[in-house]
Amino acid sequence: MKRRQFVRNASMAAAGGALVAGCASDETEGGAAAVQTNPRVSWRLTSSFPRSLDTIFGAAEVLANRVSELTSGRFTIRVFPAGELVPGNQVLETVQKGTVQVGHSASYYFTGLNPALAFDCTVPFGLNARQFNAWMYYGDGLELTRGLFADFNIINLPGGNTGVQMGGWFRERVDTLSDFGGLKMRIPGFGGQVMAELGVNVQVLSGGEIYPALERGVIDAAEWAGPYDDEKLGFHQIAKNYYYPGWWEPGPGLSFYINKDAWEKLPADYKAALEAAAAEANVDMLAGYDAKNPVALARLLDTEDVTMRPFSKEVMDKAREITREILSSEAASDPTYRRILENYQAFQQASNRWLRASEHTYADFTLSGG
Ligand code: CA
Repeated sequence: MKRRQFVRNASMAAAGGALVAGCASDETEGGAAAVQTNPRVSWRLTSSFPRSLDTIFGAAEVLANRVSELTSGRFTIRVFPAGELVPGNQVLETVQKGTVQVGHSASYYFTGLNPALAFDCTVPFGLNARQFNAWMYYGDGLELTRGLFADFNIINLPGGNTGVQMGGWFRERVDTLSDFGGLKMRIPGFGGQVMAELGVNVQVLSGGEIYPALERGVIDAAEWAGPYDDEKLGFHQIAKNYYYPGWWEPGPGLSFYINKDAWEKLPADYKAALEAAAAEANVDMLAGYDAKNPVALARLLDTEDVTMRPFSKEVMDKAREITREILSSEAASDPTYRRILENYQAFQQASNRWLRASEHTYADFTLSGG
């Protein structure tokens, strides 16, 4: 279903649900036949993120609060942070089994199950957040990624975006390709694969393990997301060189995973409430980061002795060349991966031509500091 139709249906059904429930509360018991079609439903949600990272974790709370409001409190979702029910890297299989009905995660955590799941989140040098939403809602992104999640008995809904991430924190400068040889860096997923080809000794550590590893010198560099989250994790206390951009995560989309059996049992207006709430959470996270990152960046630069440094063109060019080789190699061994990649790249190419004229030209003039 295309986005315009989806939004209209979701809004109408959600409004209808609220009206039915609202009328029911004014009726005497027995006169409220409609309310019997709206059962009480209690779900649990498990997140891949800790409560302390309030923006990325908060999307799950936006979802839960909105669903409850849209259904007059009859459909509730209890939200659990990573580690309370299951560790953050087990969200997909937990929803698949139906142990919980909904999860919130980043699909590139699960590329070990299927490398194509990266397209539900981000790939290096891929779509930015705006392009990603356009591909998911109006292009073929949602349909293609739902095809992947069908194997896991899951329906995915877009559930937030960080925007272009930062490249992370480095104890020493990395200006040339040779500076990456032997560097020990925390970086997961596809970006880690590219870094490994650059000679980096790649370490995969969860959020809470990064700071102690950096402090003890077990790693020389680490990346997480952007100024707002990174400041909370404290990396700037150890490594003062803050590189940009995070070319491996140009617009990572988070996702809500809904267990398909649980979804199919929902009344139509609850489904619509869930879809509308997810769409709101999707927009809300990006707006939140776009408002909070500048404030955190100012603190880091003005009071913490942090220096921002761009990755050199030499490094960016080589990383993109390696990325293309990895994408081609995956596509050669998996027809589904190839089909999604071709669709994604065609969308990106067309979008880039338009954004080069519009956003890029405008940003180049207004953001260049001139
Ligand atoms: Ca990251």
